[in-house]
Amino acid sequence: MIANIQIAALEQQKAGSASSPVFSIIAPVHNEEDVLRELYRRVRDVMDQTGEAWELLLIDDGSTDSSAALIASLNTADVRVRGISLSRNYGFQVAVSAGLDHAQGDAVVLIDADLQDPPEVILDMIERWQEGYEVVYGVRGERDGETWFKKVTASAFYRLIQRITNVDIPLDTGDFRLMDRRVVDAIKAMPERSRFLRGMVSWVGYRQTGVVYHRHSRYAGRTKFTLKKMVRFALDAITSFSYFPLQLASYVGFFFAGLSALAILVVIALRLFGADAPLMGQATTLVVVLFLGSVQLICLGIIGEYLGRIYDEVKARPLYLIDRKWGIEEAVK
Ligand code: UDP
Ligand code: MG
Repeated sequence: MIANIQIAALEQQKAGSASSPVFSIIAPVHNEEDVLRELYRRVRDVMDQTGEAWELLLIDDGSTDSSAALIASLNTADVRVRGISLSRNYGFQVAVSAGLDHAQGDAVVLIDADLQDPPEVILDMIERWQEGYEVVYGVRGERDGETWFKKVTASAFYRLIQRITNVDIPLDTGDFRLMDRRVVDAIKAMPERSRFLRGMVSWVGYRQTGVVYHRHSRYAGRTKFTLKKMVRFALDAITSFSYFPLQLASYVGFFFAGLSALAILVVIALRLFGADAPLMGQATTLVVVLFLGSVQLICLGIIGEYLGRIYDEVKARPLYLIDRKWGIEEAVK
């Protein structure tokens, strides 16, 4: 009898501590039925070593496979697994934002569901957090199982971003990172629609540091990032954190203005000092007109990219809609 009461009390304590965890692990899930169980097992094994209460928050980003059902059954088996199902596929950045909105931990870790980022690294991150760092990001050292195309484009992208933005986004980091509650609250207060979380986290500031880790290949399944999604992501990143493309129009304009001024001088000189022959044929004129026309259209396109995003911001639609929740109380936002 007494033992029963003790067990009940213990269980209550466990449930109680689970409702205010120290650590939240957020994983966005888009058709990851093959990896979810393994993800849970690995995260549980690692997080139990901390001796603190933790939660694994799985955000189903419009999966069409059995991912949602799996999240539900994981939640039934272990209340520390909580889940949200979004109303459709909103994309990685929004899924993670939904996770941040619902995470309750004092420190929040973002991790890919596919186990490319080893959960064991979280322990190193926690150590740095306890030393007083508000953000501990994972720096990709070796990378397995990624095509050379992905590696080359990713590396070019990070370097371009570093050049043209004014926030200092560390090279070769992904979204695998630990964030202190202060940082999470700051990010939750940013209402922007085109979300480039890495940039937003850098923008927040505080003390940030990195831990180098070995990025493995996917545990199972295939990458969910199509080329189209990657281009969209790159454009979001650049337009959210840089005016450089807009300024490019002025630079190109000044360059051609200078060139034209020189050309005018040359034409006048040639006229004054004798040359009668027509200076340009029709083909030359056509090429110049077409060239400048294209430059202008490209500049208009760049302005369009920004304008479209301003339009999205102004509409101020909700970032995401929730379909179902597991283990998340209504009061929590
Ligand atoms: N993901 C998502 N929504 C999407 C695409 C991906 O939530 O629209 C999740 C996916 O389930 C995984 C993480 O984002 O947990 C990273 O995706 P993936 O491994 O396919 O990208 P990669 O590692 O190839 O860049
Ligand atoms: Mg992956």
